[in-house]
Amino acid sequence: MCIPPYYKYLFLAIIVGTLVILAVFYDRVYYFIPTFVFAIMWSRVACLKCHEPILKDKNGWYIFSMRSTCRHCGQDTLLCEIESDEVASQRLK
Ligand SMILES: [Zn+2]
Repeated sequence: MCIPPYYKYLFLAIIVGTLVILAVFYDRVYYFIPTFVFAIMWSRVACLKCHEPILKDKNGWYIFSMRSTCRHCGQDTLLCEIESDEVASQRLK
């Protein structure tokens, strides 16, 4: 069984977002420890095809994306199989 990287990415985004909100509103500084751990996992969720993190753009900046298309190679990160170069690169145009 395979979980598409985009689902992991969204799941971790929700966890990180919730923990940040809890830490800020309830003034619980120790919530930042799991937030930090989840944020590292989040930033490491990578595209299956090019292995670049979904959260990073071409310049290495961390940018939150709602698109499931990989910014680096065009692979649809909602899929578990690696797409061919023709299919993936078409999507980048
Ligand atoms: Zn990619």
